[in-house]
Amino acid sequence: QFLRMGPNQETRKPHAVCLPFPAQGHINPMMKLALLLHHYKNFHITFINTEYNHNRLLKSAAVQDSPDFQFKTIPDGLPPAEDGGGTQDIPSLCLSTRKNCLEPLTEVINKLNHHTSNSPPVSCLIVDSIMTFGLRAAEEIGVPGVLLRTASACSCMCYKHVIHLVEKGLVPLKDEGCLTNGYLDTPINWVPGMIPLRLKDFPNFIRTTDPNNPLLNFLITEVAQSSKASAIIINTFDALEHNVLNALSSISPPIFTVGPLHLFANQITQNTSKRVRSNLWKEDPECLKWLDSKQPNSVIYVNFGSIAVLSSRQLTEFAWGIAQSKKNFLWVVRPDLVQGENAALGPDYWEETGDRGLVVGWCPQEEVLSHPAVGGFLTHCGWNSINESLASGVPMLCWPFFADQHVNCRYACEEWGVGMEINSDVKRDEVGFLVRELLDGGRGKMMKKRAMEWKEKAGKAISSDGSSYLNLDRLVNEVLIG
Ligand code: UDP
Repeated sequence: QFLRMGPNQETRKPHAVCLPFPAQGHINPMMKLALLLHHYKNFHITFINTEYNHNRLLKSAAVQDSPDFQFKTIPDGLPPAEDGGGTQDIPSLCLSTRKNCLEPLTEVINKLNHHTSNSPPVSCLIVDSIMTFGLRAAEEIGVPGVLLRTASACSCMCYKHVIHLVEKGLVPLKDEGCLTNGYLDTPINWVPGMIPLRLKDFPNFIRTTDPNNPLLNFLITEVAQSSKASAIIINTFDALEHNVLNALSSISPPIFTVGPLHLFANQITQNTSKRVRSNLWKEDPECLKWLDSKQPNSVIYVNFGSIAVLSSRQLTEFAWGIAQSKKNFLWVVRPDLVQGENAALGPDYWEETGDRGLVVGWCPQEEVLSHPAVGGFLTHCGWNSINESLASGVPMLCWPFFADQHVNCRYACEEWGVGMEINSDVKRDEVGFLVRELLDGGRGKMMKKRAMEWKEKAGKAISSDGSSYLNLDRLVNEVLIG
């Protein structure tokens, strides 16, 4: 394979094509993996974004092609949004990428493999685990097709068992009443390797009465297709999800845990000038200076990630709960975070909170979480956020919003000892109480201790004899260039 060189294909580097799902929480870990393969394993990388996202990356993060790390784009297959831009509506993107992206992906690969191309022949495809159509492109050119699972192993196990919920008649729901009558608390204690769960810990796509719900069916078929992968890479580390990973290995293609990817990639790239960022929004660096002015462990950092949308009532409850706690807060309020009126953060609010608080539109989260002033993280439990919080030893208040976030929350609170859950029907008194408890209370102290233990274990996993470090070697030697 590597001997087939065109006239301009001077190098014999292995060439990985990386295709992330077009959302922030998927692009970030794929970028970290690509950087690891590039800097540390000497791969040539082609990173494929959707056109819409790539334009956003160019605006906010100044990603640049280099001779052996290049970007290509494909359309996401959706019509332009009203403002002429694209969308980050996840259900639409799931269905559209599956339907429309194989052909443009194949075209890009064919061009890369053409004898006039400047790059080495494509030797493997690494695609997001909810874009299994990419495995077909790998199969067509006879190279390994590998899935990157950007969420936890415990959520992977849940996704795999959705089909069993359907077979047992638990899903779809009988009627809408099931959403409020306690049905979602039904105990589920038969998933191998998992702690006892409730139906509501499964991805919220199961909360439907429609047996033909497109997203539910998308999920079930993507899980089935994933068994065709040459390997599955998971952004987690063995010590964190040991039991689940054991159970998962017996029902999956070979699994390689190489996380936390951000920590691993930062370790390899910290002394190079090539630390590519992958933010779709422009970061506000001022918040780091603001944190410098605060005492250690005195700030609650609040961020609901890139997708969650709050009602104005929810925003108001969070805002006044945080104000009631009388604690310092750094809050990321994306321009599109709130549906409808965002009146909560007006003059009254600032009169009450003064310089205790700072609100920005987007921040460098990894740096924020590793800042000594940050004592706790109020999070929606996106998997990257949890990984980044654990790797920095920061305990959490958990308010899961959708998909894998429910089970991540369950594990953070019940298994890893680093989280306290906020009721989905958020109320300011509870928020105020929990923020104080997290930063000052006895439970908060216990959780901080556990978080620091996880930080140490995460660091061990990526050190030179750690599980993630060794797994990356095996992944490269046994699958990607094997
Ligand atoms: N992020 C960031 N700055 C922000 C908000 C988020 O850099 O102000 C990054 C964060 O570090 C993480 C990703 O965006 O890597 C969000 O992914 P996550 O899985 O936590 O949540 P999602 O956005 O997918 O819901």
